[in-house]
Order: sequence, then structure tokens, then C-alpha cells
Amino acid sequence: MGSNYGPLHIFFFPFMAHGHMIPLVDMAKLFAAKGVRTTIITTPLNAPIISKTIEQTKTHQSKEINIQTIKFPNVGVGLPEGCEHSDSVLSTDLFPIFLKATTLMQEPFEQLLLHQRPNCVVADWFFPWTTDSAAKFGIPRLVFHGISFFSLCATKIMSLYKPYNNTCSDSELFVIPNFPGEIKMTRLQVGNFHTKDNVGHNSFWNEAEESEERSYGVVVNSFYELEKDYADHYRNVHGRKAWHIGPLSLCNRNKEEKIYRGKEASIDEHECLKWLDTQTTNSVVYVCFGSAVKFSDSQLLEIAMGLEASGQQFIWVVRKSIQEKGEKWLPEGFEKRMEGKGLIIRGWAPQVLILEHEAIGAFVTHCGWNSTLEAVSAGVPMITWPVGAEQFFNEKLVTEVLKIGVPVGVKKWSYSGVDCCAKWDVVEKAVKMVFAKEELEGMRKRAKVLAQMARRAVEEGGSSDSNLDVLIQELGTLSSLSR
Ligand code: UDP
Repeated sequence: MGSNYGPLHIFFFPFMAHGHMIPLVDMAKLFAAKGVRTTIITTPLNAPIISKTIEQTKTHQSKEINIQTIKFPNVGVGLPEGCEHSDSVLSTDLFPIFLKATTLMQEPFEQLLLHQRPNCVVADWFFPWTTDSAAKFGIPRLVFHGISFFSLCATKIMSLYKPYNNTCSDSELFVIPNFPGEIKMTRLQVGNFHTKDNVGHNSFWNEAEESEERSYGVVVNSFYELEKDYADHYRNVHGRKAWHIGPLSLCNRNKEEKIYRGKEASIDEHECLKWLDTQTTNSVVYVCFGSAVKFSDSQLLEIAMGLEASGQQFIWVVRKSIQEKGEKWLPEGFEKRMEGKGLIIRGWAPQVLILEHEAIGAFVTHCGWNSTLEAVSAGVPMITWPVGAEQFFNEKLVTEVLKIGVPVGVKKWSYSGVDCCAKWDVVEKAVKMVFAKEELEGMRKRAKVLAQMARRAVEEGGSSDSNLDVLIQELGTLSSLSR
């Protein structure tokens, strides 16, 4: 697109969790690359994480990305001092308080709208009040869920039809009704989001849904070729205005951009790449469960044993610091035996950089949508191990629709994965299966084709790039009409 969108100014307001901040910052970069002035709204303690990411964007577009902070009212409401990030309170009693505290950002947010008058607000689904805030100033609000079209549709259907109510037991399969493909699930996999009458939760859910319906539309981190049927279904059957503009992670072109996403990596990238360079093509399994999943020591122990038994080289990201004494989560002598064969990253990994390395042959993932799409973009087959949120839907998309993964076989949704749900022999079997020649070749071929499609989608004139242009054009027209 040759047009100049200089006058357009968009606010991006991510929920304070890595899985939400990372893609929305990528999105701001994408708009900035099209000449749109972008402002990312966040809290003081999250601002340095975002600015570190933006600093790596060395082209002219970084000048178009600003950060504006809003004080997060944590202490007065019962949250510990310094708690401005949901990952530290997820699946604790503090999470509802955290969520409530975000609503206290409404007033200062409206002050920003008043003074800066952006042309559009792209705000996280977790901030339903932003639709009203934006409307007060005649500004359109776009919703960002951070999930796939497949999951957007499936979630909607669960709340509309509650199909799990027609089963006799938690483990009886039901077909997701009025949904493309014959996708079967159990009540256990659908999770508390839908099946429990949690009054506080449901009222938030309803508010978010209702605010979304009044919003201008939805921006989706996906590409059309990946999930056509579900993108069409979402638009045509659920009647939502939606733009697909992903995979957002592909806006990170240089090495530094790929490294500084989210937290600072706990491993020097040279060390990591050097290790990967010593491995043969497609031989390493990368194991990482996103930014929020917390496994018990007993589950970690089973993973370690499973990896060792599989005989496969691995990189395993574990949320444990080197200082933590008494490694009850590792078998005796594990690290010594695995020298040269396995690399444990304690903390945060440069995931996109790792996934794109040719030595990576498979990815054990919790099916967070960012991770899933990053694997798709890198052409890496997956071993799916969903934990909570909408991850069981993503597993179905990966294993049954796209057929680029094998399930580890988790049966039950949980908040953050504290339960020990997969024994070592199951892990061993899944890893062996994904590397087994026949199984893999079909899967790897399909994964590589999808990766090419992903790249084409974000290139000039590709489906996502064009959809982004359409969106910017529309916002431009809207803002000139409202002037
Ligand atoms: N991530 C990373 N290094 C890590 C763990 C996670 O870079 O060690 C990034 C990953 O690339 C993805 C995001 O964090 O972009 C996690 O998002 P996802 O939706 O996969 O899972 P969530 O953390 O929201 O459960």
C-alpha cells in the first residue's frame, strides 16, 4: 500500500501477561511499519519490558511507537506491592483482585483518550470497559483476544449451546455442534471456563462478551489459509467483523527482535545457537510450556524421565532458577548423563529463535496460541500437551484439522497445570511417535507447507498484509468522517 496513514494514531492496550503483551507489541510494530503512529498503554513496571522489545526495532518504525504508562492500583486493593503482572497471581485467590484492579485504570485511561484523541483503541479482551471508554470520545474499539478463529468459534458455541450438558459423564465425548469438522471433546477438556457456575467468573465473561458485541470488531493473530473454515464461520455465522493480520511474530525480522520478546532470556543466545549448531537437522525436541504454566516437581520429574527414555536430544525450558536447592524434579545424575544431549534453560528462552533453528524437529507445547502459531510459522510439528485456557481447542486444531501434531493424551483441563497428568512412559511414547519416520514425514511436510503459507500471508499483498491494509484504510475513512 502506497498511501500515507501518517495522521492515524492507535492505542494498543495489552493485558499484563506475557502471552498478551508479546503479540500486542508485535501488532503495534506491524501498524507502525505501515506508518501508523502507535502508543502502547501499560503500567510502570511493565514498561521496561516493552521498551526493551521496541528498542530492537531498529528501523524508522520504532519512532512511531510510544509507551504511555498508567499507574496500577495494586497496594490499595489488596495486591502485594510490585504486582503489576498477572503471571504472578494466575490461579491464585489474588487473580480476581488483580482483574478488579484493572478496572481502576479506566479513569486514567480516559484521561489519556481525552488528551491524545487516538483514532482507534485496540484493547485486550480482559478490559471490557474500554469499549465504553472509547465510545465516550467517539473512538472505535477493536478487541484482541489473542486466540485462534477456531477457538473463538468453539468458545462462542460452548457458551451458546453448552453441548457438554448432554453427556452422561465428564469423560463422554460430544461433538461440537454447528461447527466445521466433526470435532469431539469431553466436558473434562472444556474446563471451568464454561462448565462451572462461578458467579464472579460468569459475570466477567458476560460483560466481556457483551462489550465485544458493541465493539467495532476483532483483530485476530492468525492467517486465513491456516483456518479458512473457522475464519469464515466466525464472520458469517457468528456475525463478527474480524481482521486476520498474523502470524504477528513474523514481524520480527532480525535476530535481536526475536531474542527480546517478553522477559530477558536466561541463556546467552550465542551459547544456545552454538549448541543447536552442533545438532543434526530435525533432531532436537524443544520443550516449553509458555509463560504461565506451573508444573509440580513430580510432573517435571516425569518429563525428565520421559525425555531421557526417548533417547532424543532436547532443549527443555523450566521455570526453576539455579539457586533453588534440592533438585527434586530431576532424576539422580540426570544433568551429567544428558551432557551434550540435552540443554535445560532455567527461566526464559528465546523461543522464536530456537524454533526457527533447523536442528529443531518437534515442539512439546502447552498449545498456548502464540506458541502454536510460532511453531506453525517455523514449520515444526508439535507434541500437544494442553493445560488450561483455550488450549484444548488449539490441540484439536493442530492434531485433527491441520494434522501437524500428536497429542500427549492429557484428559483434563486445569488452571495452571499443577496436577501430574502425564507419566514418563507417555512422554517417551509421544516423543518417539513424533520422530518416527512415517508419522513424521507427513506431518513435517504439512508443517513446512503451512510455514511457507504463513510467510506468504505477511508479505506484501499476502492475505494478512492485505487485511491489515483494509483495516487501516477503514479506520482512516472512519476518522476522516468523524472529523
Ligand atoms: N515465550 C518465550 N520464552 C519462554 C516462554 C515463552 O519467548 O521461555 C513466549 C513464546 O514465544 C510466546 C509467549 O511467550 O510468544 C507465550 O504465549 P503462549 O500463548 O504460547 O502461552 P501463555 O504464556 O500465554 O500460556
